[in-house]
Amino acid sequence: GGHHLITDWLQWSPRSRQPHTSHKGRQGDVFVAGGELLGAGLLAAQAALWSGAGRVRLASAQNSLVLPHSPELILDALDGLDRHPNQTVVVGCGWGNQSSQPLEHLIERAARLVLDADGLNAVAHNPNLAQTLRSRSPLARASILTPHPLEAARLLGCDVSTVQRDRLAAAQAIAEQFRCTVVLKGSGSVIAHPNRQPWINTTGHNALATAGTGDVLAGWLGGLWAQSPTGDPQHLAAIGVAWHGAAADAVPTGSAPLTATELIKAMYALHPHSMI
Ligand code: AMP
Ligand code: MG
Repeated sequence: GGHHLITDWLQWSPRSRQPHTSHKGRQGDVFVAGGELLGAGLLAAQAALWSGAGRVRLASAQNSLVLPHSPELILDALDGLDRHPNQTVVVGCGWGNQSSQPLEHLIERAARLVLDADGLNAVAHNPNLAQTLRSRSPLARASILTPHPLEAARLLGCDVSTVQRDRLAAAQAIAEQFRCTVVLKGSGSVIAHPNRQPWINTTGHNALATAGTGDVLAGWLGGLWAQSPTGDPQHLAAIGVAWHGAAADAVPTGSAPLTATELIKAMYALHPHSMI
């Protein structure tokens, strides 16, 4: 079938729709379940904050290191979703080889789920986790999966060259298999959703090929979604992906790399600023 190109993303911003009297309790809550790689969860949490989410909780194995770095983050534990169940959950970034039990709990319980990186690898290797993910109600409890091509290949049980040969088909197959929205990352990211046409992103370039930029995307998507919890996940994912790439396009890097931390700042600079 055909596909859409994403071109109108800048006309949309959750924060610009908030009333002047808004407070942090209604700007969206994000729960980032961090893992063994401290930096990945930290980048995702920072991205969620700078996207405009009102409160971001980070469950990290090394909370004492996070606090001096990011006092804005609310430190929590992996079971923190049970205390505040309506958070948008971002999990998988730097997860490592931690037990799949808390992962299963989060996949089961999250009202809105962004699943990335080692969270996807765990799903690919563990049929119980895969079944838990598939069993989420796609309407009441939507999910966005953000695989890069190798993670996509693991989910599909094929090799990377097969994924890359037909990226639209690969993204669509994962979306149908898990009944989720799927962002197949890389040049020309594909945003697929069950029973719909996939979209192809046109922003960004290879300065994004540095460690941590995927974690920034996952956190930013979680932040946008928390601010717009009833929003359509394919639409939200497309906006976040376009925003991520447009930020890279806006930075005059030449052939220099863009670090993930700089990327967050560049994304922040693209927030539509009100003229009144
Ligand atoms: P990850 O592979 O998880 O580290 O994520 C890398 C991020 O950078 C994803 O959002 C990719 O889409 C993006 N990215 C990497 N390489 C490119 C490229 N050559 N062109 C556009 N985006 C890219
Ligand atoms: Mg990644």
